[in-house]
Amino acid sequence: MNPLESQLRYPFEDRIPEPAARVEVATGIFWVRMPLPFALDHVNLWLLRDCFDGRDGWTVIDTGISDRVIGGLWERLIEEQLEGLPIVRVLCTHTHPDHVGLAEMLTSRFDAPLWMTAAEYAFGRILCAAMPGANGESAAAHYRRHGMEPAFVEEVRNRNRNYFASLVPSMPLSFTRMREGQDVRIGARTWQVIVGLGHSPEHASLYCPDDRLLIAGDMVLPRISTNVSVFDIEPLSNPVQWFLDSLKKYQPCDADTLVLPSHGRPFSRLHIRLRQLDEHHQERLSMLLAACREAPVNGAEAVTLMFRRDFDTHQMTFALGESLAHLHALWYAGEVDRFVGEDGVVRFQASTA
Ligand SMILES: [Zn+2]
Repeated sequence: MNPLESQLRYPFEDRIPEPAARVEVATGIFWVRMPLPFALDHVNLWLLRDCFDGRDGWTVIDTGISDRVIGGLWERLIEEQLEGLPIVRVLCTHTHPDHVGLAEMLTSRFDAPLWMTAAEYAFGRILCAAMPGANGESAAAHYRRHGMEPAFVEEVRNRNRNYFASLVPSMPLSFTRMREGQDVRIGARTWQVIVGLGHSPEHASLYCPDDRLLIAGDMVLPRISTNVSVFDIEPLSNPVQWFLDSLKKYQPCDADTLVLPSHGRPFSRLHIRLRQLDEHHQERLSMLLAACREAPVNGAEAVTLMFRRDFDTHQMTFALGESLAHLHALWYAGEVDRFVGEDGVVRFQASTA
């Protein structure tokens, strides 16, 4: 949790939409909350009044995961909250299951197009099909290589066989590409696409300069820091650095911007949050570098150094990914060396050069 949360402002205070209800956060923009069966127990979706391709209706931003509860809540939303109008476009900020899980259901039901960036769409198709390199075997090898216990490795091997597809059973078969800097017209507003890296391959946020609104997705969250992980399909990635670089793209947003995040409540004081996130990662990098000066550190050991609490399997995959991401940032910055021990485990040690 963000210990400096009190520096932010929540203009809607404690107000939170009831299940299958909506709260208007700006003219024609409605906040909906869907439950999630994880420690992170909800995701925010946004309904925007639109006229697209000659049809009057709604652009929906993100969808929730695919399960019976969320499907039932969507039925109620469609029945009670869409004013009898259709969904004319589904726009997903990125391909994580809580954002894209029901995209196929909504696009096919309303014959509406899916809007996404190309890398997010392609990754979604790869993960949904559990292709080689994105399945239980590759995940197990990844966690073994980074020093996780055999019991955890086996659990991940079984779980990841079909994990993504259990939350996202299918993806739409085509998409409309969003690109960095592109203007997207939704109803009376024009939004600029801000592409961010580090959390997912090509995450899209939308910024409306005229009304000072930012649909942030997962890139800027008020209470938790965005997960930045090294995963098996991209084992040498540098997501902490990519994330910190991407945060700079939000600096030009107006000081009074209302941020609509995917988790937590709408907030203002964006620039304070950007600074907090930068400092949060810098602190963790310093702490891990100090540990790497004492002795070589593997991914599993970095989890213990960075997080002083117990995790379930779901959380642990993110904790390991995030710890490794910080070690990689130090490695790419030349602060630590990376080597593979005789036991096949990757370790990092303060650079002697
Ligand atoms: Zn995400």
